[in-house]
Amino acid sequence: MANGKWAVVTGASSGIGEATARALAAAGFEVMVGARRLDRLQGLAAQIGGQAVRLDVTDAASVEAFCAAVPAELAVLVNNAGGALGLDPVAQARDEDWARMYETNVLGLMRVTRALLPRLVAGQGHIVNVTSIAGREVYPNGAGYTAAKHAARAVTQTLRLELNGTPVRVTDIAPGLVETEFSRVRFFGDVERAKKTYEGLTALTADDIADCIAWAVTRPAHVNIDEIVVKPVAQASATMVARGKGL
Ligand code: NAP
Repeated sequence: MANGKWAVVTGASSGIGEATARALAAAGFEVMVGARRLDRLQGLAAQIGGQAVRLDVTDAASVEAFCAAVPAELAVLVNNAGGALGLDPVAQARDEDWARMYETNVLGLMRVTRALLPRLVAGQGHIVNVTSIAGREVYPNGAGYTAAKHAARAVTQTLRLELNGTPVRVTDIAPGLVETEFSRVRFFGDVERAKKTYEGLTALTADDIADCIAWAVTRPAHVNIDEIVVKPVAQASATMVARGKGL
């Protein structure tokens, strides 16, 4: 049943963001979705009765236009837009990949949050940042992504401190392996290589993460879920993954 509250989900054209938009709509929120692929967003918005607005979190003008369309009182902001590019050792790091990862996962999160904070305070809102276990661990060849997600986690923890004394809640969602378009993007469209990431285990689904987010934002107003770390049973750490065990 509709609760009359607004939620914004960035990076909602696929994967975790799309599933989160669906879950929040099912929980009664009016959902505004943003990403660069407007055709996908419009299809989603039509299904969930939401509003689709093009958003490129790396472009200040796009963020400004997107945020101008958000109502004055906002209950939930899910900063989900992001991802990885490449899997290379530091010795072969490509500047453009590192810059884009920092732009989307860190600066994008900051830009959208900064622009929407007055609306979140007015709406006694909740900021949910989708970081990663890559924000807590490092692994060989992953420094560009882990550095960006460590930074995203640092920003999230800082927001929790800076917003103390306001009603705004802050939650860090840190998933392990989730089967989405993430690896296809990371490997620049190499579908076969992307598939191998999830071979021999049952990866998390985007719905599993959406479930965590919907749960966190529907707790009573005095309850702040600071962080949720969620991994497949077969994954004990970023680098320790049991494959071929039927898990
Ligand atoms: P995905 O299916 O590739 O989704 C990524 C989303 O981010 C897409 O909707 C994409 O939309 C959007 N996006 C990328 N760049 C953007 C930009 N500049 N401006 C606006 N939107 C942008 O991957 P996912 O797994 O759902 O990833 C969602 C989040 O979860 C990411 O932050 C990722 O780092 C994090 N995460 C994923 C995993 C995993 O294993 N899959 C694990 C931990 C954390 P457009 O391309 O249409 O713009």
